[in-house]
Amino acid sequence: KRVEVPASTHGIDPSLVDERAANVVRTLKSAGFEAYIVGGAVRDLLLGLRPKDFDVATNATPEQVKGLFRRAFIIGRRFRIVHVVYGRGRENEVIEVSTFRAYLDNAAAEQVAGNEKTSKSELAGMHHAVDSTGRVLRDNVWGPQEEDAVRRDFTINAMYYDPETQIVVDYHNGLKDAKNHTLRMIGDAATRYREDPVRIIRAVRFSAKLNALGFKMDAKTSGPLIKSQALLADVPQSRLFDEMLKLLQTGHALASIAQLKSLNMHTGIYPLLDVVVERADQPFVNAALKDTDRRVGEGKPVAPSFLLACVLWADVRDGWARRMADHQHSHPALQDAIEDVFNARIGDVSGRGRLAGDMREIWLLQPRFEKRVGSTPFGMVDQPRFRAAFDFMRLRADAGEIEEVLADWWQEFSMADDNLRQDMIDQVR
Ligand code: ATP
Ligand code: MG
Repeated sequence: KRVEVPASTHGIDPSLVDERAANVVRTLKSAGFEAYIVGGAVRDLLLGLRPKDFDVATNATPEQVKGLFRRAFIIGRRFRIVHVVYGRGRENEVIEVSTFRAYLDNAAAEQVAGNEKTSKSELAGMHHAVDSTGRVLRDNVWGPQEEDAVRRDFTINAMYYDPETQIVVDYHNGLKDAKNHTLRMIGDAATRYREDPVRIIRAVRFSAKLNALGFKMDAKTSGPLIKSQALLADVPQSRLFDEMLKLLQTGHALASIAQLKSLNMHTGIYPLLDVVVERADQPFVNAALKDTDRRVGEGKPVAPSFLLACVLWADVRDGWARRMADHQHSHPALQDAIEDVFNARIGDVSGRGRLAGDMREIWLLQPRFEKRVGSTPFGMVDQPRFRAAFDFMRLRADAGEIEEVLADWWQEFSMADDNLRQDMIDQVR
C-alpha cells in the first residue's frame, strides 16, 4: 500500500538535503518523469543525520536520464545506473540515479532460469537481470515504483522523498520502523537472505550503525541470520570483499565487529573478515580500526589498502623474520613474505591490483624509516605513498612496536624545509 507522508508528520529538515540531489529530482520531474531521493539517504534524513551520499530513483531509463544532464555517465554491468556529476576535483560530487526495477522473487527467478547452469546465489544476485529464458541481460527489468520498493532490503531503506513537495512515499511502514527504531527486513527474512545472502552482512552493518541510535533488529529479521550464513559460500568473492569493505569503512567498523560477535557470527562470512574479527582486539589492529572510524566520522577519506595492510601486518612481519632467520637478505625476505601473505590471505580477487600495489608499498617502505642517513630520508618524503606509510608507522609506534621518537622524527622531518631536514639527518649520525 502506497502511503504519502507529509512534512508535518515525518519532520525531515530540508536543509539536510543536498542541493544537487534536489536539482536532479527537479530536472527529471520537469521532463515529465517520476523522481525521488531514495534509500539510505531518506533513512538518514528521517533520523536527523546528514546523508553521506544521495541516490535518486526514477521511472526514466538510463538513456533518458543521461540525455537530461550535461555530465552524466551510464555505468555498471549488472545494474545499469547513471552517475550525474557536479563540480570538479576535490569538490566533485556524484548523484547516482537508478531506474525503478521490477521485483522477481526467487521462485520466479529460478523458473525463468530453466536449466541454466547458474548457481542459486549467483542467480539471486542477478535476478533482476535475467530474461524469460534465464539469460543474464546487460539490461535490467524495469518496473513500477511499488516493485522497486519491495525488492529493497529493509523497511527503513525503502522510502522515497520528493524534496519539492517534501512528501515521503512509504510502502512498507518504514516510517513507523524508523520512529520505533526497528531494523526490519521487507517480506520473509529467511527468503530474502536466500535471494541475496549479502543481505546477511548488510543486516549486521545497519544494526551496528544504528545501534548507537537505539535501534534493535526485529526478531524475525535477526532470527534466521545464523542459519542463513552458510549461503554466503556461493556468493562471488568479489561481492563479499566489497561488502566486507563497507562493513569496515563506513565509520562503524568496531561496532560491526562487536555486532558480529554478539550475533555469534564471528567466523564464516569471509576468510579475510574472520582475520579482522580475530585480531580486532590486538592493539595495532584495534588502533587501525578506531582510526578508520574516526576518519570517516570526520569526513576524511579512508583507503582499504591501509586498513588491510594493518590487519595483515602481523603475518608479513612474522614471515619476514622467519625468512631472515633462514639467512635471506632483508629486502628480498620482506618481498617474499609479502607475496606469501597475498597468496594466503587475499587470493585472487580480480581487480584488486591497485589495492595490492598500495599495500605492498606501505609494507616495503617500513624498513626505510629506520634508515635516517644520506639522502634516503629526502627520497622517502617524495614517495607517493609516504603519507600512508608514515601513518602506518605511527600506528606501529603507538602500539609499542617501534620507538615513538622515530615516528616523531619523521613527522618533523616531513614538515621541515630542506635546511632543517639536513640538520636533522646530521644529528642522527
Ligand atoms: P549507506 O548509508 O551505508 O550507503 P545505503 O542504505 O545507502 O546505506 P547502499 O549499499 O548504498 O546502502 O544501497 C542503497 C539502497 O539500495 C539501499 O538503501 C537499499 O534500498 C538498496 N539495496 C542495496 N543493496 C541491496 C540488497 N543487497 N538487497 C536489497 N536492496 C538493496
Ligand atoms: Mg548509499
